[in-house]
Amino acid sequence: MTYDFDFFVIGGGSAGVRCARIAAGHGARVGIAEERFWGGTCVNVGCVPKKIMVNAAEYGAWAEDAAAFGWNLTNHGHDWAKLAAARDAEVARLSGIYDKLLKGAGCNTFDARATFLDAHTLQVGEQRVTAERIVIATGGTAQRLDIPGAELGFISDDLFTLPALPRRVAVLGSGYIALEFACILRGLGAEVDLIYRAPLPLRGFDDDIRAALAEALTAQGIRLNPDVTPTRITTVDGELLLGLSTNFVREVDAVFFCTGRLPNTRGLGLDAAGVRCAANGAVVVDEDHATSQPHIFALGDVIDRVNLTPMATATGHALADTLFGNRPRKASYENVPSAVFTSPPVGTVGLTEAEAAKRGPVDIYLTRFTPMRHTISRREGRKTVMKLVVCQRTQRVLGAHMLGEDAAEMMQGIGIAVAMGATKQDFDRTIGIHPTAAEEFVTLRTRVREAGAGVRAAAE
Ligand code: NDP
Repeated sequence: MTYDFDFFVIGGGSAGVRCARIAAGHGARVGIAEERFWGGTCVNVGCVPKKIMVNAAEYGAWAEDAAAFGWNLTNHGHDWAKLAAARDAEVARLSGIYDKLLKGAGCNTFDARATFLDAHTLQVGEQRVTAERIVIATGGTAQRLDIPGAELGFISDDLFTLPALPRRVAVLGSGYIALEFACILRGLGAEVDLIYRAPLPLRGFDDDIRAALAEALTAQGIRLNPDVTPTRITTVDGELLLGLSTNFVREVDAVFFCTGRLPNTRGLGLDAAGVRCAANGAVVVDEDHATSQPHIFALGDVIDRVNLTPMATATGHALADTLFGNRPRKASYENVPSAVFTSPPVGTVGLTEAEAAKRGPVDIYLTRFTPMRHTISRREGRKTVMKLVVCQRTQRVLGAHMLGEDAAEMMQGIGIAVAMGATKQDFDRTIGIHPTAAEEFVTLRTRVREAGAGVRAAAE
């Protein structure tokens, strides 16, 4: 049987674009369909526009801090429309680059929705195409909670089309998106309530970092509402009323549901193709990213494993090399560094203290200090916390965690060391760069405790 394509990719986001482009470079006849926007969530309603808004929010505090360093600046307030125009222009530029990259690599691009008719046949817009191998890379979508009036609230995509900054905002959830949005909105001048069901924000991260982050959020004026769930949203005279499990009601101008994302598999025809999904809709794959049909693969957020852009591109690249480049390989899901772009940011790689302690005895090294800039600015809530989790037996650094300025930039390099199996002694004999905060990672001399001791009980 001959097929129209050797390889067809459904979804033009981070995973799909990389996979399609590399496969075409290896000589495969590649088709790729995207129904909404090239570049997917990351470029259009995720990492890229978010980071631009994080930068925008930070300038307010920087301008205030400048006074302590002798600058006499006058702040005439923030121009939302100007920021939105700059952000949107950059997003449009990048989205266009993705489309060009695909065409330049020789892929056939389809601005259309693709759905399965059978295991080798897809309906792509008005056309029917066949492919020998197919990749599902359709990503995920933000979800509202199932409460009365949920439709009155926003999801994360909506931040990027708001015509103005809402004055009073409730942000629901305390994961990556909730915390980044809370800091952006607060930094730009909104009153922000963070409403979350756990005792501390950022479940799954190291407990010392979570506790320090809660303090930092409070210091910048974000009102924390732990152990609370929203119950309903109603509207009275154009104002939103958010009901809470505490029986309180908050009057707000906007509610953001940052309560998780679900894989985009509905209506894809996966039954017709014989592709199996988990209860939450995630496509089930093996370690080679093959689905229950060995010629159909799935990558990125649609498999709901490590939902990060660099993971999507790395696995997409590896799959294309494996299938068409005569270079079988896998991208590792171990020791994936990541950052939460709060203010200040969180950076992390490897095991938390609680995770490591379950596996065996560990030594904990921890420092907390005021970064040099803020000894002058005197800004509250900008303490840096750095932590190393070290295997007592092998002295390998199992985890590195940080809350503090430049944490995201620092953690990329630390991630290399951790992935290579560096020991505490390797860190210790590395000469610091002075004066930086980063040098603290190589001068952590005093073990503050052993495994388990002092670990806050995981409250959830
Ligand atoms: P997360 O899973 O990180 O957070 C979801 C939040 O919603 C949690 O606080 C969770 O609470 C809460 N929640 C879920 N269900 C309910 C419920 N029924 N009632 C009350 N609260 C609920 O998802 P996000 O949407 O923030 O982010 C999705 C993914 O996108 C992230 O996991 C990350 O992989 C990626 N991402 C990465 C970024 C980065 O790299 N900087 C930035 C943004 C997103 P609880 O914790 O108690 O379960």
